[in-house]
Amino acid sequence: MTFEELLKYSYLLRTAHQDGRTPEFYKGWNYRFSFFNVRPFAGTRTIMFMAETRSITNPRKVSYKLIMQFKEVQFKKITNQEEADEYAKKKDWKYVQIQDLHFYYKLPSLKTDDVMVKCACFDFRFSFEYYNKQYGALVGQPRLYHSKNKLPPRNFKRTPGVCKHLYHFALFLCHPKNRWVDSKITRTIWGL
Ligand SMILES: [Zn+2]
Repeated sequence: MTFEELLKYSYLLRTAHQDGRTPEFYKGWNYRFSFFNVRPFAGTRTIMFMAETRSITNPRKVSYKLIMQFKEVQFKKITNQEEADEYAKKKDWKYVQIQDLHFYYKLPSLKTDDVMVKCACFDFRFSFEYYNKQYGALVGQPRLYHSKNKLPPRNFKRTPGVCKHLYHFALFLCHPKNRWVDSKITRTIWGL
């Protein structure tokens, strides 16, 4: 499942949700990301992007850890200057160093590549973890929980999806200044 598909499900769920938090609710929110970390694994063709972001809604201003992981990523090991020059010119490839070795990787696409995600926030945990796991779109295992109230389930459509932190993380990753991933998400997709 691609990031854009996850986003689409989230959008449909939000617009249908009875808590009144339409996409416009989140308009103009800005999240900052700290401890940003890229973990490329050329051997397994995997790349992980990790960061933390501070909650805007939680009064205790807690931080949430975020992970976005892509598989089947193309890596090119650079062994001479000619290759370095060639790959430096390619717009959809990005340089990364792994230990003492030099690589370029092809930017994973939010539109066409399968993604696995995780956010430590309650919304992601209670709305999406279980369903993302069913669709192969979760990093790790879902955290189990038992509902203590009789409210209707948060994710009554039982769809996979992403929380607002993961959405903003994707905006950060595909921002022209950063370009860690390909395909630009516009803020209008989720009405943000
Ligand atoms: Zn979250």
